[in-house]
Amino acid sequence: MRKGLLILVSGPSGTGKGTVCDLLRQRHPEISYSISATTRQPRPGEQDGVNYYFYTKEKFQTMIARGELLEWAEVYGNYYGTPKQKVTDRLEAGEDILLEIDTQGALDVMRLMPDGLFIFLLPPSLEELARRLKGRGTETEDSLQRRLAAAVEEIKIAHHYRYVVVNDKVEAAEEVIANIIEAEHHRTDLNENLLAGLTEAVEGE
Ligand code: ADP
Ligand code: 5GP
Repeated sequence: MRKGLLILVSGPSGTGKGTVCDLLRQRHPEISYSISATTRQPRPGEQDGVNYYFYTKEKFQTMIARGELLEWAEVYGNYYGTPKQKVTDRLEAGEDILLEIDTQGALDVMRLMPDGLFIFLLPPSLEELARRLKGRGTETEDSLQRRLAAAVEEIKIAHHYRYVVVNDKVEAAEEVIANIIEAEHHRTDLNENLLAGLTEAVEGE
């Protein structure tokens, strides 16, 4: 059995992480998805336990205190974190799990789980990033400017990731990510059982 792969997709707010990861999940239902916990309010159409676990600040702090979060970060005034149990369970079961998280949390996961697959999603340009953030209709002028300034700082640390993918067209970006995942499945460190199975068969003769 191949080892499970932790797949982390990160990048500046508005780049299209959610959109690209939704398509990846539709096309690859075999990849588990890590549902994050957050203290932010649900947006219209978002459901508790589907998009996020929507928790109070108290409940979130209890999870931190109990060590139940793999990582957490304050992102634009709200807390976000990755529940640890599901990630470790899925990986131990030999399944892939997808995390779509911000760049602060991503650096923590790189330290904790260096064998993961770390992908940085880039916008085609800062002008296009601004257009997407405006088009999403979720930002005030102030929060838009904050996100654009943060994007430049985040892009500066993109070299910590193994891969960069430009999200020009959603379908194309999804396909590139799916191809990267396919290639990573052939990493020797994820296939030690395959190698051991063959060499043990020879040694057993
Ligand atoms: P993120 O999760 O990175 O904050 P979203 O997935 O919410 O970003 O995308 C931000 C906005 O940009 C959304 O309105 C989305 O529909 C749009 N968008 C995402 N990817 C593309 C793309 N490749 N081309 C044009 N618009 C896109
Ligand atoms: P949004 O509020 O737009 O859904 O997400 C805001 C930001 O929080 C995005 O950059 C998203 O990737 C990030 N985020 C979502 N879940 C997590 C998480 O579990 N941990 C961290 N560190 N960031 C997260």
